[in-house]
Amino acid sequence: MSTRPEHDLIAFAERLMSLLDLSQRSATYKYAVLLGLMDLCLEATDRHGQAPQSVTTRELARKVIELYWPHTQNFEMGPLARVLRQNNGGQARVLADIVAFRERLPDPSVTLDRARQFDSAGFGRLLDDVEWTLILMPLPRLQVVGGHSDPFVYLIGWNLDTLRLRADVRRYQRGEGGDFDNLIRFLPGVGDHLVRLNGLLRPLIYRGWASMVARFNGLPESKLESFLFGIDRTSLNPVRELLTDLQHGQCFYCSARLGPAAEVDHFIPWARRPDNGIHNLVVADRRCNGAKSDFLAAPAHVGTWMERNRGRAAELDAVASQVRWESHLDRTLGAARGIYLRLGEGTRLWLARDEFLKVEPGLVQAALA
Ligand SMILES: [Zn+2]
Repeated sequence: MSTRPEHDLIAFAERLMSLLDLSQRSATYKYAVLLGLMDLCLEATDRHGQAPQSVTTRELARKVIELYWPHTQNFEMGPLARVLRQNNGGQARVLADIVAFRERLPDPSVTLDRARQFDSAGFGRLLDDVEWTLILMPLPRLQVVGGHSDPFVYLIGWNLDTLRLRADVRRYQRGEGGDFDNLIRFLPGVGDHLVRLNGLLRPLIYRGWASMVARFNGLPESKLESFLFGIDRTSLNPVRELLTDLQHGQCFYCSARLGPAAEVDHFIPWARRPDNGIHNLVVADRRCNGAKSDFLAAPAHVGTWMERNRGRAAELDAVASQVRWESHLDRTLGAARGIYLRLGEGTRLWLARDEFLKVEPGLVQAALA
């Protein structure tokens, strides 16, 4: 074994990907759990760029629901429209639970955030069910290879052989305390590895996940990845005008006057981490948005963005509540730190049109402070 950190990182990435390859591929849970853990590590990155040492089963359940939410919309294939199967046999339990929750809503096509506001009790029950499924199935099984459990990502504090497990989890979910330990403890360095590997592993996980769903449903893979993981651009329309007003009708990046073709841009690119939260959205003209594409913006833009989120906090809150938009500044900032504070030497950040700057850690840090 090498002691050089970059070798450790690569070895870790390879082990992680082999878990997905070797898994008894009966449901897509492993993808959801890994991606969920990665997202939670990003979101909880602190001011010094440190990833968390543990997350809870509750947090993971919330994240897994977020990941599967767009997947529980009907997929249209010719005259047929149906929710895609994510299990070898019938539907995966987590998906079935989410579908049932959706169907009880007056408008099942709403965003998760709206659904949660509309039926918070139902959402609470959904969280309980999904958390229990995670406790029972993917979390104890993720690191089992060839019948042997070989934890190198996390340790859990519960045992499936305990007869009282269901009762303990129920008691914990009702807030009555008890013996259930809901922490998923990362092994040393793992949180940091997951954050560093985000840019690299996310597209691989998307690809593997989409290919598995294609296989379960007898579909070609081509359209599937964008259905499962793409941006729903029309859904951004409700905030476009309000954010344009907040920017005095100017492009966020170049200050040019915005015309009718203005576009909502994800400041932290969707490809790096899907985040429709109001604080991650800015309005740009088509030229800037197209040029920025999936690149990260340069420190000067980060500074403007931090300034906007801080200085216009009240107005952003007002926009979010006016159109009932999702808003979670802490998670958005945590992810920005997780991504920006760990950029490798030589990474290029987008400045304007076809101009890029090489990353300078000091500048990035200052911009995020
Ligand atoms: Zn512009």
